[in-house]
Amino acid sequence: MGKLDDRVVIVTGAARGQGEQEARLFRAEGAEVVVADVLDDQGEALAKEIGALYVHLDVGEESQWRTAVAAALGAYGRLDGLVNNAGILRFHALADTPLDEFMQVVKVNQVGCFLGIKAVAGPIAEAGGGTIVNTASYTGLTGMAAVGAYAASKHAVLGLTRVAALELAGAGIRVNAVCPGVIDTAMADPTALDPDADPEAVRRSLDGLYRRLVPLGRIGRPEEVARLALFLTSADSSYITGQPFVIDGGWLAGVSVV
Ligand code: NAD
Repeated sequence: MGKLDDRVVIVTGAARGQGEQEARLFRAEGAEVVVADVLDDQGEALAKEIGALYVHLDVGEESQWRTAVAAALGAYGRLDGLVNNAGILRFHALADTPLDEFMQVVKVNQVGCFLGIKAVAGPIAEAGGGTIVNTASYTGLTGMAAVGAYAASKHAVLGLTRVAALELAGAGIRVNAVCPGVIDTAMADPTALDPDADPEAVRRSLDGLYRRLVPLGRIGRPEEVARLALFLTSADSSYITGQPFVIDGGWLAGVSVV
């Protein structure tokens, strides 16, 4: 028996990173999974490997959500869950952030989440209820210099989560959010920002940083976030809705002065 037997779940941004691990784990737990992303080659390869359906979905485009939900219903006949995982990160001080960049971040992280909730609420209600897991962040609960657009969008994701939980509870749909700290994916890889950087030197310096900043002393793994998303998608969390779940190795607990 899997924890998600007979469930059909869409995972956005599932071609790599945390979404990929969520897709893999949900499939292993018995769900039919719809891998949705803009990285078509990677997404298709993953879907083929795990026996899932791939759909091209830019989460900021409402018409593409309609197509993706129709594809899920066409393939599996029902829809029980969504993980709004797709996201992008951009670095600028607020005063230096171009409006286009701010709007791009909001469109993917915040509008994408809103459109996802809007697109799946009806079909999940028709299936008798289900779950939505939104991916916020540590920066959805506190500030972080140089990522203002991102932090603003992730705070908004928590607002959407709470309102959706209130509005959809009557339809049997639970809505929660995961708030990861720093997780070892492409998004947290500084060598992606500086192609000249020596990856080993960067890794050593980051390991030192995480040892100082994070009480558990290390970066998180995407598989660990996937297990939290599984908890929030399965019946194990049956009496939980409207909540942010921090998964950050203790980073947000406070600062140490010793
Ligand atoms: P990642 O960059 O590896 O994965 C993000 C995925 O989203 C990619 O597959 C990408 O193609 C997809 N994506 C981007 N724009 C999209 C769009 N418009 N439509 C559909 N898909 C799109 O990074 P990740 O760490 O796996 O990120 C997953 C989620 O976790 C994101 O929402 C991110 O903001 C959040 N998060 C990450 C960290 C971290 O440290 N890695 C920390 C907190 C929160």
